[in-house]
Amino acid sequence: MRLQLERRAVLSLGANLGDRVATIDAAVRALDAIDGIRVLLRSSAWESPSWHPDGEGLSPDYVNIVVIVGTTLEPIDLLDAVQAVETALGRERSQRWGSRTIDIDIVAIGEMEHAEDRLVIPHPRAHERQFVLQPWLEVDPRASIPGHGPIAELAEYAHGDAWKLP
Ligand code: AMP
Repeated sequence: MRLQLERRAVLSLGANLGDRVATIDAAVRALDAIDGIRVLLRSSAWESPSWHPDGEGLSPDYVNIVVIVGTTLEPIDLLDAVQAVETALGRERSQRWGSRTIDIDIVAIGEMEHAEDRLVIPHPRAHERQFVLQPWLEVDPRASIPGHGPIAELAEYAHGDAWKLP
């Protein structure tokens, strides 16, 4: 028997079309059902304005959560797994800044720093996004982003706005 190392990964989920909370719930269930991924912690639902180079708020607001998972998958296999969940839930990859039924980003995998065409870890914009930092602070307030520092400090300077849904 081969013992497989389980790493902790931080995922950011967002949806701004349809029943946003139901889609996020379905995505969390689908992630947890994948062999090699188990969901350990899940934040509350937060809301944030959509962002577009032409201005904020041109599309519906997003619902965002952060989940912490344990995973035995290699980073690229974790990316394939989250993209398969996006596709299963109806995500179409069309416009870069377009609305999304579901978007799942890999924010961090342990202390890993990794860059290739399809996958950059930590996610290159996570450290500046309140919609990532605020829900992440809720589930792991002492976390840090490799190369950037403690998320509690990053949240003091990050862009945008995010508010917890009642
Ligand atoms: P998006 O449209 O925001 O879902 O971006 C998806 C693209 O970003 C995909 O083609 C991925 O290969 C790439 N990508 C690079 N790094 C990451 C990451 N850390 N998490 C998710 N997607 C990533």
